[in-house]
Amino acid sequence: MPELPEVETVVRALRPVLTGKTIDQLELLHPRVTRHGHPHLLEDACRGANIVALSRRGKFILIELENRPTVAVHLRMSGQLLVSDTPLPSPHLRAIFHLEDGPTLNFVDIRTFGTIFLIDGSEPDGYRTLGIEPLSSSFTAKRFGEILEGRATGIKTLLLRQDLIAGIGNIYASEACWLAKVHPALPAGELNEAQVKRLHRAIRRVLSDAVENLGTTLSDFRRPDGEPGQYGNRLHVYGRHENPCPRCGTSIERMVQHGRSTFFCPRCQSQQLRD
Ligand SMILES: [Zn+2]
Repeated sequence: MPELPEVETVVRALRPVLTGKTIDQLELLHPRVTRHGHPHLLEDACRGANIVALSRRGKFILIELENRPTVAVHLRMSGQLLVSDTPLPSPHLRAIFHLEDGPTLNFVDIRTFGTIFLIDGSEPDGYRTLGIEPLSSSFTAKRFGEILEGRATGIKTLLLRQDLIAGIGNIYASEACWLAKVHPALPAGELNEAQVKRLHRAIRRVLSDAVENLGTTLSDFRRPDGEPGQYGNRLHVYGRHENPCPRCGTSIERMVQHGRSTFFCPRCQSQQLRD
């Protein structure tokens, strides 16, 4: 699933293309796209609307409209927002933003988990309850420590909770724990001060590096021009089980936490490591 860096990559690519453009019409091609709202309200809000800004909140792409509610897009597992001159001939095309005097914005989604909805008070809980933005200046080591306090959940699983910290998913949670030398199963509330500081720094570094490298493509993620992200070959542990740890050479291991794969180095991230 696209995480903060992939979504940020999409927003940065779409911003110069869409800002200042007018939406002629939003054409909805699959009922699941609008399951979080009312398709007619969404179509009405988009018809003739001027796009004033593109932004991101957690893993949501926000298309801000002049004097209208903001349109949110969540790519979920396999959603793609692709720019083309005319609608793409894809069998997985789920929605089309037709722009006046401009390109077409195609919402392609093989698995149909992606959604488009309005931020008008009827938005889903997953949006309303989003936690702090990890790349914002308000996400300090102190704030991070407060979020972890008293929590018994394994730290890597806790990092996936969008209502605490918005935007981190399975890839970057594993990567951040490795970079910080923190065992992914360590109860979040038991991290000592040094570990909290290291992990806080690691989260921000991993996410910024991935944004710089236009995100990670494991399978479906594409930038709006159809190209894949470039961070995939920079991953240290994610998907690299049985390969040597880039830091110490020990074989990377995979374990399952709450149904999700976690990748870690059993030596660098030893559970006993408390320094
Ligand atoms: Zn190692």
